[in-house]
Amino acid sequence: MLDRFAIHQPASLLEASQMLAHFGPDAAVYAGGTELLVAMKERLTHFPHLIDIKRIRGLRDITYDEKRRQLTVGAVIRHRDLERSPLVRERFPTLADLEAAVANVRVRTVGTIGGNLCFAEPHSDPATLLTALDARLTLHSASGERDLPIADFFTGLMETARRHDEVLAAIAIPEPPANTGVAYERFKLHERPTAAVAAVITVDDGAITDARIVAGSVGERPQRLPETEALLRGQPVASSLASTAADRIRDEVETAADAFESESYKRQLARTVGRRAIAAALHRASGEEGGRHAA
Ligand SMILES: Cc1cc2nc3c(=O)[nH]c(=O)nc-3n(C[C@H](O)[C@H](O)[C@H](O)COP(=O)(O)OP(=O)(O)OC[C@H]3O[C@@H](n4cnc5c(N)ncnc54)[C@H](O)[C@@H]3O)c2cc1C
Repeated sequence: MLDRFAIHQPASLLEASQMLAHFGPDAAVYAGGTELLVAMKERLTHFPHLIDIKRIRGLRDITYDEKRRQLTVGAVIRHRDLERSPLVRERFPTLADLEAAVANVRVRTVGTIGGNLCFAEPHSDPATLLTALDARLTLHSASGERDLPIADFFTGLMETARRHDEVLAAIAIPEPPANTGVAYERFKLHERPTAAVAAVITVDDGAITDARIVAGSVGERPQRLPETEALLRGQPVASSLASTAADRIRDEVETAADAFESESYKRQLARTVGRRAIAAALHRASGEEGGRHAA
């Protein structure tokens, strides 16, 4: 049973943030409700006022800016929309594949990308890949708009840099440079992933010029792995490289214990999915899948 609440349906981002400011802690943004309503039903939290942002124009757009080489996704886009969008499939096939395996079709048909990121549940698939892709988030409040790198958004376990009166409006994903391979690998035993690694690797003349490696699900939030990245940078592409880098992932990653898996098991899983992600990204960056880049 849910306690009583009122649903407000603002027509604009400004109106939504004004409502959040007006009701203060009594209000929450309501998108798909797949996390929010369950938490309210289980009486983990309660908000007498839900600000339903689904009617706000523009929050369901997916656009690609040729000049800036950037995909922009509205926050109320559902996982299922991302999975099926020809534009996402063409520009970021790894993201389309990731989305197709989020949760189950019922959750994907209702749950939004913005809700996923704002809830900051540590087992988020998109959070890990979007951190490796250096996405930027646009947050809207009554006092204006701000843009911040996704890496600065996740501040702790289910905590973000979003202020209470801010609505996440859009996510901008820059296209990686030429000769860059993008890969995401996860291991899933439960509803959500247990361990995941995203790799974005650029190769020039047979050597790695840039690497962004991010581990997700094993700790409190997505984490860049600078030691693993440094190990990869400058190295000639060789078949043993993914295993060597994966050993570093196992040693470098920070894990958080939970009721299901031990920390050493999570490290081992991060190593395994990390090796697969790095091998796949190197393969794609070397043009073996034929693209100028295979995001
Ligand atoms: C059974 C199940 C399995 C799942 N499996 C996976 C999985 O495998 N991988 C994965 O990544 N995720 C998984 N999820 C999480 C799923 O992706 C999220 O539940 C969904 O995306 C949340 O979106 P929503 O629109 O329903 O959010 P809501 O429930 O509406 O909101 C979630 C939170 O975010 C806030 N919020 C929502 N939108 C905004 C916004 N635009 N601006 C500011 N605040 C906002 C709300 O106030 C609330 O606090 C699973 C969830 C379930 C229930």
